[in-house]
Amino acid sequence: MKTIKKSSKLDNVCYEIRGEVLKEAKRLEEEGHRILKLNIGNPAPFGFDVPEELQTDIIHNLPSAQGYCDSKGLFSARKAVMQYTQQKNIAGVEIEDIYLGNGVSELIVMAMQAMLNPEDEVLIPAPDYPLWTAAVKLSGGKAIHYKCDEENDWQPDLDDIRSKITPNTKAIVVINPNNPTGSVYSLKILKQIVAVAREHGLIILADEIYDKILYDGAVHTCLASLADDLLFLTFNGLSKSYRAAGYRSGWMIISGAKHQATDLIEGIEMLSSMRLCANVPAQFAIQTALGGYQSINDLVLPGGRLREQRDVAWKLLNDIPGVSCTKPKGALYLFPKLDPEHFNIKNDEQLILDLLKQEKMLFVQGSAFNIDDTQHLRVVFLPRVDVLEDAIGRFAHFLSKYKQ
Ligand code: PLP
Repeated sequence: MKTIKKSSKLDNVCYEIRGEVLKEAKRLEEEGHRILKLNIGNPAPFGFDVPEELQTDIIHNLPSAQGYCDSKGLFSARKAVMQYTQQKNIAGVEIEDIYLGNGVSELIVMAMQAMLNPEDEVLIPAPDYPLWTAAVKLSGGKAIHYKCDEENDWQPDLDDIRSKITPNTKAIVVINPNNPTGSVYSLKILKQIVAVAREHGLIILADEIYDKILYDGAVHTCLASLADDLLFLTFNGLSKSYRAAGYRSGWMIISGAKHQATDLIEGIEMLSSMRLCANVPAQFAIQTALGGYQSINDLVLPGGRLREQRDVAWKLLNDIPGVSCTKPKGALYLFPKLDPEHFNIKNDEQLILDLLKQEKMLFVQGSAFNIDDTQHLRVVFLPRVDVLEDAIGRFAHFLSKYKQ
C-alpha cells in the first residue's frame, strides 16, 4: 500500500506548544518518569478548581443538555455574553452577533476559514499565541508578524505594524492581555492600533481571553469599545478566568461595522451551522460565570495565589545571571530572555528538549511563538511557590552549563 500522506494544506502549519518536545515528554512518562509541566496554561491540574457554582450548573443541567442547541449557542448564555459586552462598553451587540464555540480555539479557526483567501494577509503579534498563525495558514492566508517591543513592556511596535501593511492586509490580531508575554496594552497603543486599522480598512481580531487576569492594578480596555465604525471580532471564554479549560467553552462577538460584513457573517454562520453547535453542557456555565462572583480576583489581587506565584517566579528568573524577564501585568506566563552574550544557545528547541531529559520539566521554546530568535522561553507560573522555587532552581543549575 502506498504511503498515506497528510493534506498539503498542512505543509506550513506549525503548532509547537504541543509538538515534538511533547512527544518526548510522553515517552518519558510511559517509562515511568514524572514530568513537571510548565508548558501549558491549564489551571486545573495545579489545584485551580473551576468555581463550584459552575460545576453545579453543569451537573444540574445535564438532563436538559442532551440535544443539539441553536448552532450559535444557548440563548441564555449568549444573553449573558451580550450583557458582558455592555459592561465592557462594546456598542450595539445583539444576541445574533454572539457565537459560542468549543473553546476560543474552535472559533478562531472558524473565523479564519470564513474570512481568508489565498492572497490575504493577517497581521499577528510576534511573539504570538501560535494558534493564530496556524489558523491563518490553515485557512490559506498569509501570517505576517509584527514586533512587540521587549524594551517597552512588550507593547506592539506601531512603526513595525505600519511598515508591514500592504494592499493585501485584511486583518490585525491583538492579543491583550498577551500570551506569552503577559503584557497588558496601554490605552494609547490600543487607540493607535484602531487608528491604523481605520486608515487601512482592517478587521480587528481581539483575543481577550485573559481580560480578568490582571496584576498590579492593570486595567484592561476592550478593543472593540474604542470604535464602532470598524469590524471587530472579539474572542473570550471560560478556560482561563474561570479555570474551566476542559469544559471547552468560549465565545466570539461580532461588533462595529457589521453592515459592511454581511457576506462574511453569512460565511461564519454557515461554518457555525456545519459543526451543528458547541458542547451544550458547558454552555450552561456561561451565565453563572459572567454574572456570578468573580473568584479570579481573589487569586490575582495582593495575597492571591496567582499573584504570589508570579512574583516569586519572576524574581527567581531575574536572579539567574544572564536572564532577564519583564514583569507580566496579566495572564499566566513569563517570557524570559537568555542573554546571548552570556549563553551559547543555537537551538532553543534542543535546549528545551535537554532540559526535559535532564530535569524532567517542560517549558516552551520562544521560537514556538513565531519570533525569530532563540533567546526566549515561556514559563507557566501555575504551580505552587515551593514547586516553582525547586523548578527554577534546577533550571538555573541546568543553564549554567550553557554559559560561554
Ligand atoms: N487565545 C489565547 C491567547 C490563549 O492563550 C489560549 C489558550 O491558551 C486560547 C486562545 C485558547 O483558549 P480555549 O481554551 O478557549 O480554546
